[in-house]
Amino acid sequence: MPTIEGAPHAGATLTVDLDAVTANYRILQDRLGGVECAAVVKADGYGLGAVPVGRALAAAGARWFFTAHLDEALALRAALPAPARIAVLNGIWPGLEAAFAEADLLPVLNDAGQIALWRAHGARLGRPLPAVVQIDTGMSRLGLPPAELALLEQQPDRLSGVPVALLISHLACADEPGHPLNAIQLDRFRAARRLFPGVPASLAASSGIFLGRDYHFDLGRPGVALYGVNPTPDAPNPMRPVVRLEARILQVRHIDRGDSVGYGAAHRASRPTKVATVPIGYADGFLRSSSSRGHFLLNGGPAPILGRVSMDLITLDVTDFSSDDARPGATVVAIGDARTVDAVAVDAGSIGYEFLTGLGHRYRRAYLGQA
Ligand SMILES: *Cc1c(COP(=O)(O)O)cnc(C)c1O
Repeated sequence: MPTIEGAPHAGATLTVDLDAVTANYRILQDRLGGVECAAVVKADGYGLGAVPVGRALAAAGARWFFTAHLDEALALRAALPAPARIAVLNGIWPGLEAAFAEADLLPVLNDAGQIALWRAHGARLGRPLPAVVQIDTGMSRLGLPPAELALLEQQPDRLSGVPVALLISHLACADEPGHPLNAIQLDRFRAARRLFPGVPASLAASSGIFLGRDYHFDLGRPGVALYGVNPTPDAPNPMRPVVRLEARILQVRHIDRGDSVGYGAAHRASRPTKVATVPIGYADGFLRSSSSRGHFLLNGGPAPILGRVSMDLITLDVTDFSSDDARPGATVVAIGDARTVDAVAVDAGSIGYEFLTGLGHRYRRAYLGQA
């Protein structure tokens, strides 16, 4: 396995298992029954590399891809097979029309002004330009608000000449199956659909897929579950872990009771302690809120984080490990099968989404499986 063991120069290695990503895609497809499954690859594939992840998922059969930004979509367009449909969730503003049309990208139209802009560009080019339309059913973030939906109902020609390839909305509380807003958003989405007869619809992201058939419509739109984060936080994780983050021990020292560790002397030893220093810090996205919380794994056992996470370094308590385990050059696991990104995030007071997307680009990266 090309993990850190195969990389003598690397202080820290982030290994992304593309076979696990495609296995997760199949798990989600399975949940969706016969309904098609898209891939959300915004934020550089949730930090794991939109191009390798996108290629692996295209090879696994994904045809719809979503990014947040136009630039992300342009990079993906160059990397994916031509039939891929790439939609940009953040939508469009004046001046971007040509870039979208030239690269055959679908803007997610989020208000009446964006619809008018895209329609006008199609008229200028003399060809209909397809788009995705998003309805706001309760997020109050992006998407047509109810008043603009009513406007469309009264004046349907505002959309004439814009082939709507997909109608979407986004759930605010899908990770809480019992939350009343789920059913309310479902009802609003169903009502909005009536204005778009024959148009395929998509409501469910990762967690929404696990709310059941009613939420599936014509396309699932998962992101985070593809990357191994648990879409069902109250139940065991049905997804396969995708990420492994390892580092080497740089130095091991013995400190006395009363000695302090790291910035702010935030940790003071209550016993003679063996401290291992490893080359991962908050500049690598290892959140500073992990200070004195959580642990790394050394030979399968927990080595607690001691004191503050600094920019480039973290100090671990390895008192309970033999000098054979806790030695310079030995490997510790920050994230792995037995130390999930969800657990690491919880210890940092965060969520898997934030931890993954923040992991940064200073690690040596290794990809397992086909891309
Ligand atoms: C991010 C996003 C998704 C994917 O969400 P996950 O929870 O990561 O599955 C789907 N749709 C929209 C509109 C999004 O912003």
